[in-house]
Amino acid sequence: MLSVAAPARQSDSYQPESLVDRFGRKITYLRLSVTDRCDLRCVYCMSETMKFLPKNELLSLDELDRLCAAFVNRGIRKIRISGGEPLVRRDIMGLFRRLSHHIDYHRLDELTLTTNGTQLGRHARELWCCGVRRINLSLDSLDADQYRRITRRGDLKDALYGLDAAQNAGLAVKINVVVLKGINDHEIEDLILFAHDRGADISLIETMPLGDVGVHRADQYVSLSAVRESLERRFTLEESSYASGGPARYVTVKETGRRLGFITPLSHNFCESCNRIRVTCTGTLYSCLGQNNAIDLRAPLRASANNQLLDHAIDAAIRDKPAGHDFSVERTAGRAGIDRHMSVTGG
Ligand code: SAM
Ligand code: SF4
Repeated sequence: MLSVAAPARQSDSYQPESLVDRFGRKITYLRLSVTDRCDLRCVYCMSETMKFLPKNELLSLDELDRLCAAFVNRGIRKIRISGGEPLVRRDIMGLFRRLSHHIDYHRLDELTLTTNGTQLGRHARELWCCGVRRINLSLDSLDADQYRRITRRGDLKDALYGLDAAQNAGLAVKINVVVLKGINDHEIEDLILFAHDRGADISLIETMPLGDVGVHRADQYVSLSAVRESLERRFTLEESSYASGGPARYVTVKETGRRLGFITPLSHNFCESCNRIRVTCTGTLYSCLGQNNAIDLRAPLRASANNQLLDHAIDAAIRDKPAGHDFSVERTAGRAGIDRHMSVTGG
């Protein structure tokens, strides 16, 4: 990981500029992982025996708040809180409450989160009060036994209760499904109908080779091109111009009138329009999900009460943002393509 030396000459008049990388991509979207811990152990995301970071390595909520404010100052317009499971971090609602001020003052267009839903029963209403209007909820199966096998410990009832709570609180929900060969690929039509019937959009995701999960990635991987072909025999899929600012390509399912997204990092690369960066719960900035380019923000954050060193480190990270990833399930045969798990970088 790069650490950044102090700028040669520091001046009080240092004016941070907005974040544009060397390929002309404007960075406006921050995904922040607030914990690497989770109450589940999904088979594509974690190994059964995950070792989590000691809590004292994590940025405090005050530091996360300051970091977000620094990014908002640099033109970040959307923040997605992720993890691990963000809602298992103690006092996480305190961070949402503080970040909600950026929404109140129109300095941020969107504050959102990705969650497995198990804690939403407790938090959905307060999330809405903090300015959150839509969330992504991961739900990979509607069969209780299969859900438990995929999550290695989850109870489907908790996720469905969370989904209800979110919708009752007024949050728009997009359901995320990682499609896994021989595990849930036969359930995709049912999941689409379930989501659309409940007024939720849904995205299908190809499994990505991130971190060792104890199984061969090629055994889990299904190309979404094949899934789409099969769905086209059942549904009429109409191209949609909708873009969420993320990597999903959307169609409208004519029979239900709702959106279906395909997130295909392996079979279709979406890097040319990438507008995002990711920061881990220890303050490491990854400018690409699928590369190892990283810059430490924790040291500059802690070194000074003003943001000059931090801004300098952020600039260095943006300069270093790669053109794109080169994920390949085949090339990494059996091993992880990238050593860190998705739960570290934040999905
Ligand atoms: N715990 C929350 C959840 O599951 O929604 C947020 C964190 S999770 C890492 C974020 C997203 O990443 C989830 O939608 C999850 O399904 C997805 N994900 C995790 N590991 C993945 C992998 N190896 N390939 C593709 N998607 C993955
Ligand atoms: Fe936890 Fe989300 Fe990873 Fe599943 S995908 S293990 S819920 S962090």
